[in-house]
Amino acid sequence: MIQKIDHIGIAVRSIEDAVKLYTDALGLTVQDIEVVEAHKVKIAMIPVGDSKIELVESTDPEGRIAKFIDKRGEGLHHLALEVSDIEAALDSLKAKGIPLVDEKPRSGAGETKVAFLNPTGTNGVSIELVEHKKVNTIAQQADK
Ligand code: ZN
Repeated sequence: MIQKIDHIGIAVRSIEDAVKLYTDALGLTVQDIEVVEAHKVKIAMIPVGDSKIELVESTDPEGRIAKFIDKRGEGLHHLALEVSDIEAALDSLKAKGIPLVDEKPRSGAGETKVAFLNPTGTNGVSIELVEHKKVNTIAQQADK
């Protein structure tokens, strides 16, 4: 069910400020900066090998990330696991009684489907499931 650690989400007050550590100091490259209106966040994706660091800045003082930072300060926000089939993963977790924030997947950054587990059931770590759009599969089907 789980493919890999897709990314690690870090809540920051300002992507512009925070990104300097990862680029100037650590020598990584930002792949993408995207505003996801539905989640009231701006996201910078920084690839690290097969995984990514996701810097998350709130675009709304009432948003989930703004509230997180108000309460706990900037820092580690969530761990994202890649799954091949997010609906099946959610059904399986539901059947096992794992508390979920999202019963149904939402659309996330970069054409993904995402869903969060409820941290009450995950030792306080917010876990996000991510399913990437299957570009290869679609391309292969188009060839036929
Ligand atoms: Zn994320």
